[in-house]
Amino acid sequence: VRTTKVEIITIGDELLLGFTIDTNGAHLARELAAAGIEVARRVTVRDDGEAIAGAVREALDRTGAVITTGGLGPTSDDHSKAAVAVVFGRDMRLDEEHLAWMEARWQARFKRPLPASNRAQAILPEGARKLTNNHGSAPGVWMEDDRGRWVAMLPGVPREMRGMLADTLMPLLRGRSGDSVVQSRTLRTTGVAESLLADWIDAMEGGFPGLDLAYLPGVDGVDLRLTARGLGATAADEALDQAARRLKERIGVAVYGEGDADLAAVVLDMCRHADLRLALGESCTGGLVGGRLTAIPGSSDVVVGGVIAYDDDVKVTLLGVDPADVAAHGAVSEPVVRQMAAGARSVTGAHVGLAVTGIAGPTGGTPEKPVGTVWIAADVEGAIRSVGLRLWGDRDEIRRRSAQAVLDLARRVLLARQTEQSSNSAAEASRA
Ligand code: ATP
Ligand code: MG
Repeated sequence: VRTTKVEIITIGDELLLGFTIDTNGAHLARELAAAGIEVARRVTVRDDGEAIAGAVREALDRTGAVITTGGLGPTSDDHSKAAVAVVFGRDMRLDEEHLAWMEARWQARFKRPLPASNRAQAILPEGARKLTNNHGSAPGVWMEDDRGRWVAMLPGVPREMRGMLADTLMPLLRGRSGDSVVQSRTLRTTGVAESLLADWIDAMEGGFPGLDLAYLPGVDGVDLRLTARGLGATAADEALDQAARRLKERIGVAVYGEGDADLAAVVLDMCRHADLRLALGESCTGGLVGGRLTAIPGSSDVVVGGVIAYDDDVKVTLLGVDPADVAAHGAVSEPVVRQMAAGARSVTGAHVGLAVTGIAGPTGGTPEKPVGTVWIAADVEGAIRSVGLRLWGDRDEIRRRSAQAVLDLARRVLLARQTEQSSNSAAEASRA
């Protein structure tokens, strides 16, 4: 039976209580997708024989292909194998061969006899096939019935699970899955609302036949993920390439990258290519922009430094903002943010100065300047662009959106400068 869909059952009280995040489920889903196997459903159940048996039975009836993780260990809270034996109507029996292997392993490693509780790891459902564990002592279990429906049981410990998946289970599944793949491509956008993006995209002629388009909004913007299912690898690549190209044409400058691109890294690269060094004047973001830029290895050839100009005095004394403008317009205002950007540049000798000032809340808002009022500016060699924003969200979100917004302003200004310079040099070339 060809396997194109599976269900995943992760087992553990700690997962349901939220103490452990289900990274196994996520890892399995990604690896399976890359091999063209679609995860039809993911479920988490307690460490409880009946709960496990119930979930496995349902998944077998629905999809006929099930991967579980967890509950394979030697302790009294590990019930998975016995539960699956019940579902398949099999008895449990001691696997002498595995017991002998474990005894030898313990002697060699720990110079002690095997603890009695570890014997439980060698008790397997009758007819089970063992999946080799190169990172621990509990074997994985493969059970299949006469209709070709199967359950693969992997350990809960993430390192053991990943090892067994890569070494043993994936090779087995690849042989059963044919040659289709599930492939995705993600375009990252910022500065345009999800609903507006949707309006633009809905108006595109022809849509995206054979592909799924998902809108994934986050604090930093909206990711657009295209997914191809059930195509061969080459056809999927071509369909995704073409769709990504059409989307970029439609959405234009709001797309700042693909995959897991970081806008801070995009800005760094643009500065580096233009031989520009960059400095910051940050008020409401308190260093977030500098933090994002300097988190990237190699940022020191672009980032000069900056001033966390939180208090108005610092804006005036260190960034050279005119106190009369602070008094007349307030610290969150266009004249002040422009002078902050210019000051960050001149005080450090950088080519580019970026500045942010805003009201992150929850207090400090007024009717004229509510929480979320933010001014950003970019000064590139004396040419200053400033933008006023009304951001939403809690304090943390407003700060993060402000940081993303000023980075995006820098990107757009640098992009416009690039285009201008290349058209200037084209004009010069045509004159010559
Ligand atoms: P052991 O032999 O250690 O008992 P096991 O196969 O029985 O392993 P569990 O007891 O269910 O697995 O889980 C072992 C540990 O692995 C848990 O304490 C938890 O930290 C981690 N773990 C279990 N399931 C997951 C999961 N789905 N995602 C991430 N971590 C997990
Ligand atoms: Mg356990």
